[in-house]
Amino acid sequence: MNDIPSSPDNSQSRDGRPGAAQPHADRPDIDRPGADDPDTRDPGVDRPGADDPGAGDPDAYYPDDDYPGAEQVEEVRRIVEQSSRILVLTGAGISTESGIPDFRGPNGVWTKDPDAEKYSTIEYYMNDENLRIRGWSRRVDNPTWGAEPNTGHQAVVALERSGKVHLLVTQNVDGLHLEAGSDPERVVEIHGSVRGAMCTSCVWRGEISDVLDRVRAGEADPRCEVCGGILKSTTIFFGEQLVEADLQRSYDAAGECDLILAVGTSLSVYPVAALVPHAVNTGAKLVILNAEETPFDLQADAVLRGSIGEILPQLLP
Ligand code: NAD
Repeated sequence: MNDIPSSPDNSQSRDGRPGAAQPHADRPDIDRPGADDPDTRDPGVDRPGADDPGAGDPDAYYPDDDYPGAEQVEEVRRIVEQSSRILVLTGAGISTESGIPDFRGPNGVWTKDPDAEKYSTIEYYMNDENLRIRGWSRRVDNPTWGAEPNTGHQAVVALERSGKVHLLVTQNVDGLHLEAGSDPERVVEIHGSVRGAMCTSCVWRGEISDVLDRVRAGEADPRCEVCGGILKSTTIFFGEQLVEADLQRSYDAAGECDLILAVGTSLSVYPVAALVPHAVNTGAKLVILNAEETPFDLQADAVLRGSIGEILPQLLP
């Protein structure tokens, strides 16, 4: 079993080193907008959708020069075909074509509103009742609730069914991989899920939909019915720890895989991004499918820059 690289703790950090336990400047990845995060529905934030280029207009992401040609796609398809233990690592980019904005793409929630991170930062959330009230009210209309899996999620399911997927680690909290039919035994939702609710003071856990019903019924900041504690979604906020067992399982899989396929992630949130060098250093190939550059492009065996929904299905063996 490989130890999780160098993490004095496993809190999430952005643009930092694995485990660099910065208080909350290194915010984990959040109750990530798009997911649970209210920010996605900030009225001032355009969201992918009919009128938002983030999801609907591929040119917003992929200049023609960058779009991969048939030969490059075929080269990657062969790498996939020759692999038998693939670690698929997905990020918010796989869900933008389902209408859920990412964070850091051109139309990302944080790109447009850097303050939006506060809603997903545990310290602010616990200490600011007004922020929680705004958060719950916005969460009611989160775009995740109406989102359907897209051809990217379905391609991951097909890859799993070919028997080649060792583990699917997703940073997404939208639950769309499971909804698409990915095997729950092979999925690690490393940043949690927006679909659950939990008490921050006791062990109560339940469905977020029940809490949102209470908000709709007029409770602005619904409290735990068992102990009166502050409720939150089961996503991992900046300043919270990842689940140790999930992180360890992911690192073990990175050390065992023969290909790490990074899809729709800026690879800038740690400790998850550290899976990539760990896999490469233990002999795995690296393929990156993402609209924009990532810090690991130079280490990759292949980089495909284009629409996940269009390209991922073409990589199936
Ligand atoms: P990110 O926003 O940092 O990066 C997403 C990347 O995907 C960007 O580089 C963008 O260029 C690319 N991208 C967007 N749409 C694409 C498409 N259709 N085809 C190809 N590439 C596309 O997101 P991240 O790396 O996942 O990390 C940030 C955190 O954001 C994660 O921890 C995640 O939990 C959280 N998040 C999750 C959701 C969700 O659950 N759907 C939504 C927003 C953010």
